[in-house]
Amino acid sequence: MSASPLTDFRRLCVHTITTKPWSIEEACDRYAASGVRGITVWRQWLEGRDPAVVGQRLRAAGLQVVSVARGGFFPAPDAAGLQAAIDDNRRAIDEAAGLEAPVLVLVCGAEPSQPLSRSREQIADGISAVLDHAKACGVKLGIEPLHPMYADTRSAINTLAQANDMCRQLGDPQIGVVVDVYHLWWDPNLEAEIRRCGQMDRLFAFHVCDWRTPTEDFLTDRGLMGEGCIDVPRIRGWVEATGFDGFIEVEIFSDRYWAMDQQPFLDKIKQAYLKHT
Ligand code: ZN
Repeated sequence: MSASPLTDFRRLCVHTITTKPWSIEEACDRYAASGVRGITVWRQWLEGRDPAVVGQRLRAAGLQVVSVARGGFFPAPDAAGLQAAIDDNRRAIDEAAGLEAPVLVLVCGAEPSQPLSRSREQIADGISAVLDHAKACGVKLGIEPLHPMYADTRSAINTLAQANDMCRQLGDPQIGVVVDVYHLWWDPNLEAEIRRCGQMDRLFAFHVCDWRTPTEDFLTDRGLMGEGCIDVPRIRGWVEATGFDGFIEVEIFSDRYWAMDQQPFLDKIKQAYLKHT
């Protein structure tokens, strides 16, 4: 099933990394002036700033803070590394709370010197270790499964089934899942796992972009919706069939778009959102 067409920008959210050349202040002003209603703030954009002040500025401009990206990277080869990751995740939770962002996105991490199964145990332990702090701060934790090409260093959670299983294992409604079409579009079980995630009431966020062919760089050559092989409207239909009516977040890492003037790029994002999302 495909979703009904999008006709306005009320659910459009843009990640600050999508318009990487813009500071948080410029992104705030440009997004608001362009009718974008949501913003997901990457932590680098908070450096040297008070998250509470940034949050006030964003809301004053009419933007809703959707998420903070990103926490995670829990696995490590030694105890010091594991503790450093937990400490950093507590700081990320504090930043999300300061911004009044409801969700911290977790890119869970992986350690190539050890089995994936060990990294997965460390991810579950790491999330458990910061859960009380997240609850105290009112910040939900969203596990984002990453494409298996990133299983060496970026995430040992590579399918939505694994993320759903981890949610069930950890068993707390504060922990849920982030569905990103770039990472999950290839999965033959995607529709069923999106349905299952919805039944568990754990679908916290939805990220969109496209998969270019050929992809010239597996980190920084994502496409605009409609430029690649992902059937974004179909996946959005599955997501919305669960009852999800939250923001549709445009997250594009692209050297080719970052090299452009970002205002015409933002205009292209809006067109692609209406036509191909
Ligand atoms: Zn994402």
